Amino acid sequence: MEKVKVLIIGSGPAGFTSAIYTSRANLSPVLYEGIEPGGQLTTTTEIENFPGYPEGITGTAMMEDLRKQALRFGADVRRGIITDIDLSERPFKVTVDHEHKIEAEAVIVCTGASAKYLGLESEAKYRGMGVSACATCDGFFYRKQDVAVVGGGDTACEEATYLASICKKVYLIVRKNYLRASKAMQERVFNTPNIEVLFEHNTAEVLGDEDGVTGVRVVSTSGEERVLDIMGFFLAIGHHPNVEVLKGQLELDEQGYIKVVPGTSKTSVEGVFAAGDVKDPHYRQAITAAGSGCIAALDCERWLLSQK
Ligand code: NDP
Repeated sequence: MEKVKVLIIGSGPAGFTSAIYTSRANLSPVLYEGIEPGGQLTTTTEIENFPGYPEGITGTAMMEDLRKQALRFGADVRRGIITDIDLSERPFKVTVDHEHKIEAEAVIVCTGASAKYLGLESEAKYRGMGVSACATCDGFFYRKQDVAVVGGGDTACEEATYLASICKKVYLIVRKNYLRASKAMQERVFNTPNIEVLFEHNTAEVLGDEDGVTGVRVVSTSGEERVLDIMGFFLAIGHHPNVEVLKGQLELDEQGYIKVVPGTSKTSVEGVFAAGDVKDPHYRQAITAAGSGCIAALDCERWLLSQK
């Protein structure tokens, strides 16, 4: 059985930042990259809002830089998926890829969250070419253009309002005849003149060419079809935190995100810390994930010291 001091699960900005801090603190972290090495950022195009990159940087390049930085300080970065984990007693027992067994003194969970998509073939085809699940990340590329947002919750309303401030026109495609969002958010949407809400509409197909999205075909519940000429198609139909392997072992909130002691990364199990989108339904930014990875590494280091 392999024994490690700090096991980091996940390889987004939270995971790599935890790895950079814990390796610089001589804690010899082992990081498993998981199903999507590099995390959600590898599915976006350009990142222009991460401080320190005045010219912007692609998601894949940023993740490669973070990986190199973690390796430089001796983090042991490995390909592999955690397929089983037992947090009921310390050291924690972990199985990687159904076969490799590890005992870890401390665990930092940075498994992230995944945006929900509609599941249309045409949507998958244009992902990263006009189809996006993050208006804050990608909205800027469609300034002065027409775009559409799908969803009727707070995220959809927030993203539609944000996009309306930079785009010419925003269609909000809502499947029901009402918005689920809070009253305040709804009012912001209804008071923004360049947002058109299409209630009781569903997306039938995302249209495009070799340069990316050119439109979307929507159908109303009464069966009327309409093509919207848009360049950006934004999904805001929710996220699901990646907690499957941990279910039943850590306290989760009502939406399934890992609960932490406010202002810290401490979970309901001593010695287990959480960082990034898996514990954050609200901000979901690369910079906030990186910041919380730092917090988790510091909490973890202090906790290990207190165990001596
Ligand atoms: P929600 O689950 O609240 O809303 C998802 C929306 O997407 C709903 O309108 C839902 O429709 C719609 N939807 C789901 N699946 C489909 C589909 N297949 N096709 C079309 N529409 C679909 O998710 P949010 O991300 O908006 O919010 C998550 C949580 O975060 C909420 O608690 C929210 O309040 C909170 N939040 C708070 C913010 C704030 O306070 N500033 C900002 C953003 C989020 P339907 O209603 O028909 O189910």
